[in-house]
Amino acid sequence: MESDLDLFDSHCHLDFDAFDGWRDQAMRNARSAGIRQILLPGVTAQHWPRLLQLCQRPSQTVANYPLLYPALGLHPCFMTEHRPEHLGLLQQRLVAGEALAVGEIGLDFFIPDCDAQAQQQLLEQQLLLARQFDLPVLLHVRKAHDQMLKTLRRLKLRRGGIVHAFSGSEQQAHIYIDLGFRLGFGGVISYERATRLRHLVATLPLESLVLETDSPDMPLSGWRDEPNRPERVADVLGVVAQLRAEPARQIARQTTNNACAVLGLAGG
Ligand SMILES: [Zn+2]
Repeated sequence: MESDLDLFDSHCHLDFDAFDGWRDQAMRNARSAGIRQILLPGVTAQHWPRLLQLCQRPSQTVANYPLLYPALGLHPCFMTEHRPEHLGLLQQRLVAGEALAVGEIGLDFFIPDCDAQAQQQLLEQQLLLARQFDLPVLLHVRKAHDQMLKTLRRLKLRRGGIVHAFSGSEQQAHIYIDLGFRLGFGGVISYERATRLRHLVATLPLESLVLETDSPDMPLSGWRDEPNRPERVADVLGVVAQLRAEPARQIARQTTNNACAVLGLAGG
């Protein structure tokens, strides 16, 4: 039976090859599980056309599919694929109004031997584009929260955005929130050993949380041997409801409103 929940997967790479052959099924299953909206973050210029095409597909008008929204950005984990001209291409697409957000962008100092300076430069150029076009940003941050916060304080975005797969401290969480950001939580909180993040999910204001899967990555506990999928937002919701003293329905409604608000969608 179809769920009457109203959930939002705020981070799902539905355009990735891992979904080839079962993408339609993944979307229909997500819709049946109550996921009505999905945000697709772009990671390389090469991937953008495919992502945009997916978001425009006619099947979106069919009631049993979730709505898909595009974001465009140059991801710090794909530095070798980015070229200087890709920033110009990003700007052109933002001028044309093709994206709801700039992302996924960020800093990943967890990568061995990464070029932190190159990442920082690419990040700042994209943050400036977000500021210029008054768009929110989708941030990927690993082992770099202090540097990211320093950068955000300096560049002052009006719209804030989402820190996806949040992994920072409680103090860092509150600084992001004060800067207008929502924090994305997904499969990681289904692992009991993630005590610090589970504590954050239990105690942060509900207005600051959004749900995500990051599928096909970051599988939940119990499904580690298969690609993650957007329908599992419903399972992330289950974990959040267990950790907080609030009904699942209320958490679903509020986190969906939070995602809509940050992206400037109706319902936010
Ligand atoms: Zn991602």
